[in-house]
Amino acid sequence: MSTLAASSTLIGPRTLAGSLLATKLHALGTFDAEVCMNCGMCTATCPLGIDVLPRLVMRLGVLGFDEQLRAEKEAVFSCLLCRACEASCPAGVGITDNIHTLRRWLLEEEG
Ligand code: SF4
Ligand code: SF4
Repeated sequence: MSTLAASSTLIGPRTLAGSLLATKLHALGTFDAEVCMNCGMCTATCPLGIDVLPRLVMRLGVLGFDEQLRAEKEAVFSCLLCRACEASCPAGVGITDNIHTLRRWLLEEEG
């Protein structure tokens, strides 16, 4: 089996599902979570001490973990959109714009 074929077998449906979710998020608004380095600076500066935003929640969107993302709805909607995390982000992630996009997706999912 070629390296590419082996990789496709290992990653398979999760990658496809992830691509679909990320594509939906991109269509709803800004979603640049792919450039997040998972450094933790945002968590360290968040006044609410939200430890799942933006690192985990945005990563769930990138990877396509729909159910886990729905389970983090309270965290997504508790964010103050104060941008303190953005000021400390070395990757320049548009964190609050991403949060807006995640909120849109969560509301659409509710129907
Ligand atoms: S500070 Fe920026 S790069 Fe670091 S984890 Fe947060 S969003 Fe990702
Ligand atoms: S915008 Fe403010 S409340 Fe929301 S995650 Fe960033 S620092 Fe925390």
